[in-house]
Amino acid sequence: MDFTISDKMKTIIEMIEEFVAQELIPLEPEFMNKDFRELLPVIEEKKNMVKKMELWAPNHPKELGGMGLNLVEHGLVSEALGASPLGHLVFGCQAPDAGNVEILHKYGNKEQVKEFLAPLVAGDIRSCFAMTEVDMPGSNPVMMDTTAVKDGDDYVINGHKWYTSSADGAKFAIAMAVTNPDAPIHLRASMIIVPCDTPGFNLVRNIPVMGHSGSDYFSHGEIIFQNCRVPQKNLLGPEGQGFVMAQDRLGPGRIHHCMRWLGICKRSFDMMCRRASERVISPDGKTLASKQIIQAWISESAAEIQAARLMTLYAAWRIDTVGPKDARDDIALIKFVVANTMQHVVDRALQVHGGLGMTDDTILAFFFRHERAARIYDGADEVHKSSIARRILRKYQV
Ligand SMILES: Cc1cc2nc3c(=O)[nH]c(=O)nc-3n(C[C@H](O)[C@H](O)[C@H](O)COP(=O)(O)OP(=O)(O)OC[C@H]3O[C@@H](n4cnc5c(N)ncnc54)[C@H](O)[C@@H]3O)c2cc1C
Repeated sequence: MDFTISDKMKTIIEMIEEFVAQELIPLEPEFMNKDFRELLPVIEEKKNMVKKMELWAPNHPKELGGMGLNLVEHGLVSEALGASPLGHLVFGCQAPDAGNVEILHKYGNKEQVKEFLAPLVAGDIRSCFAMTEVDMPGSNPVMMDTTAVKDGDDYVINGHKWYTSSADGAKFAIAMAVTNPDAPIHLRASMIIVPCDTPGFNLVRNIPVMGHSGSDYFSHGEIIFQNCRVPQKNLLGPEGQGFVMAQDRLGPGRIHHCMRWLGICKRSFDMMCRRASERVISPDGKTLASKQIIQAWISESAAEIQAARLMTLYAAWRIDTVGPKDARDDIALIKFVVANTMQHVVDRALQVHGGLGMTDDTILAFFFRHERAARIYDGADEVHKSSIARRILRKYQV
């Protein structure tokens, strides 16, 4: 494998880094202290700047209006954007929309492409993905209570979902619901497009997460589907294939997440080194950087980030060359390695900042609380660990 960056990519990354530093990081004090909705006009302004720079939707295919970067290339972009919580949203490649674009592109019919996919890629609307349920284990989503029953030309959906990220302000949800209760358990659910203004689609609340309910894009919705009626033509892909399609959504998405987390690592690492070098801790002018324990954190973080980064680029390269199915172990490995690396690095950076690290005067407290979830979503760490171990141990069976 060869991870040499082309001149074109070098230029793109430099442009993005400059944009993040000059246009997005200065918005962070407002981002940390205001309702996110108040920032929407300025976010639109920044989105238009990105479009003018021809850097919009780096991960989406050219024919849809994106840049058509491959997974390794978009991984590098995602890392650069990860330095700011606003990066992906302003460049049109944010979760959960990015995953929804992928499945709509792969499975959507002409009408669905026109009505939902085109405005989504253009950044004119947002979407959400409603799979996880309050009363069922998200780690084993084939156990699903939500149903979609045919009635005339419609599906009638009933169920209780939560953690439907970014449902607040979204135009439509892709909802997972059981349509074929008598089929084998993996073939029972389907994906159905539900416009969020459909009667019976009830956004009950934005769930408080680590003390913050958030709003708009930065929120996680709890949703009750109550006799929510949508036309059967809103079925996405074949009936009963929901879980197969959900798998499609996860492979590349994990690379995007991991590279975003590495962007967070790099930003936190940079802040840690800067603070350690500037913070005088004794009358003779010695700084925190003179302490061996801080030096150890810095070198351990540098090593962990480099290892996690190489593993992620390798997994991206494997997906690009052999496909997500054959690369599944590589993808599962990075999921928990990078999530934990990020947690260690952010934690050390916060510790080095002392009391300041706990405040919302730097971005570290946001990273610390917001990104803890990385070890839970897209498959909890433990699920990945046990599935890899099972496959490894199979080779040792006597
Ligand atoms: C910030 C955030 C955003 C999210 N966004 C979305 C979204 O947009 N759409 C959506 O549908 N869902 C979303 N989710 C939900 C997420 O996918 C689930 O929380 C996740 O799949 C875990 O499911 P659960 O919460 O039901 O935990 P459970 O399945 O109840 O598992 C609880 C814990 O048990 C352990 N565990 C579970 N299974 C095993 C096993 N086999 N072996 C060992 N240990 C195990 C793990 O430690 C796990 O954390 C989001 C979650 C978070 C936190």
